[in-house]
Parts: sequence; structure tokens; C-alpha cells
Amino acid sequence: MELIKDGKRIDGRAPDELRPIKIEAGPLYRADGSCYLEWGGNKIMAAVYGPKEAIPRHIQDSTKAVINARYNMASFSVEDRKRPGPDRRSQEISKITAEALENVILTEMFPRAVIDVNIEVLDADAGTRCAGITAAAVALADAGIPMRDIPVACAAGKVDGVVVLDLLGDEDKKGDADLPVAIAPRSEEILLLQMDGHMTVEEFDEALELALKGCREISKLQKEALLKKYKTFEEE
Ligand code: UDP
Repeated sequence: MELIKDGKRIDGRAPDELRPIKIEAGPLYRADGSCYLEWGGNKIMAAVYGPKEAIPRHIQDSTKAVINARYNMASFSVEDRKRPGPDRRSQEISKITAEALENVILTEMFPRAVIDVNIEVLDADAGTRCAGITAAAVALADAGIPMRDIPVACAAGKVDGVVVLDLLGDEDKKGDADLPVAIAPRSEEILLLQMDGHMTVEEFDEALELALKGCREISKLQKEALLKKYKTFEEE
């Protein structure tokens, strides 16, 4: 299968184009903060609870809050039904998500507390770890958790020898490389950087630059979503 034809990708996008993204801040009533995000074929709900006392006490840190991130892929979210419950992949993604978020949340303000970050993938079509971090960031802001910045994530990669932004499912499966990146957008400090597959150093530099461009675009959408919620709130 040809992934790039006449400079266009299988869904008609240019190499440096993002899939369509829709972000809604605060759709859940009972969560302290939440976000629903649609990104191409991905549909993701993020819910934040806390800060609250960490129980059992042995998980407490007397100097800062613990970030407890849980990434879960629904069994119906992928083509071959996924066995429900945690697996190695979801544990890995939960861990890297918590580590990325920990770097921007002012955890020292809440010793002995826990902040739960739940990410539910309802439909998956590649790039779900980036979509999960992006949604979790909006949910954290919606919960009023103090942060140095609102983190954002986006992947770039290589398909048919071309460096492209934001791979969709078939590009991820049949492509050459995938490079998910999360940043704190104001300083562009990198919070997450992973890579699958092979790229030359030049291609890597190009892909990283493209992922940063994607992050900058998505960061604007996150802020618009948050502003929209608080504007509606004010009007009510
Ligand atoms: N995927 C799947 N079944 C699984 C895990 C993943 O079909 O059990 C698909 C899903 O569409 C996912 C894609 O493979 O988005 C890429 O997965 P990867 O591990 O690269 O993480 P992601 O790109 O979603 O962050």
C-alpha cells in the first residue's frame, strides 16, 4: 500500500498537516476537572480528581503530591478487541504520562496528596498517548491544579521515506518511524520524547521540528477550549 501519493497522504493531508482536533473542557459533572478530545479517529476522555489525601498512607510523599496517571484503552476502541484491563503497554503509557505531567504541576504545594489522572481511550487510531497527555493537561487546568504551563503533545514520524506530522493508524502500522513528543509550550522544554523505528539524524531533527509545530497549534486549541468553558460559566 502506498502511503504517500502525489505529495498527499491516505487521508488527503499534506505531510505537515494535523488531523482535525476538537477539544471540550469540563464535560464531566463529578470530576474535579475533565476534557473530551477528538483527534482524527481518536476519542478520549480525561478526568482529574484531587488533590486529595493519598491513601494508603505508604504512597504519600511528605514533600509533594503524587501524580497517579492511569491510561486505559477500552476493549472496543480498536479493530481487534483488546483484552480489558491493564497490560504492559498501558502501564508504560501511564508511567510516561505521569512523568510528563509531574514536571509542570506544582506538586510541592500539596504534600501527602494524590492527584488522580484518568485517561480513557474510547476510539483509537494512533497517537493516543499524545492525545491522552493533551486531554489530561486540559482536565488538570479545568480542575484548577496549579501548573507552570499547560503541557501539550503531538507525534511526527516517517512514512514512505517522508517526514510527516501526526501519523494515523495505517501510517503508524506500515510507516518507518513514529516520534511522540510532549512539551511545556512556553519554554518548549521537552517532557516526553520516544521513538519507534528508524530515522537518520537529519530526519529526526526535521521530525522533532514538525512535532513542535504541531504542539504549538494544539496548544492554541487547548487554551480556546478552556476559555470557552469559563466564558459559558460566566454567562450562566
Ligand atoms: N493499537 C491496537 N491495539 C492495541 C494497542 C494499540 O489496535 O492493543 C493501535 C491503536 O490504534 C493505537 C495504535 O495501535 O493508537 C498505535 O499504538 P502505539 O502503541 O504506537 O501508541 P499510540 O500511537 O496510540 O500512542
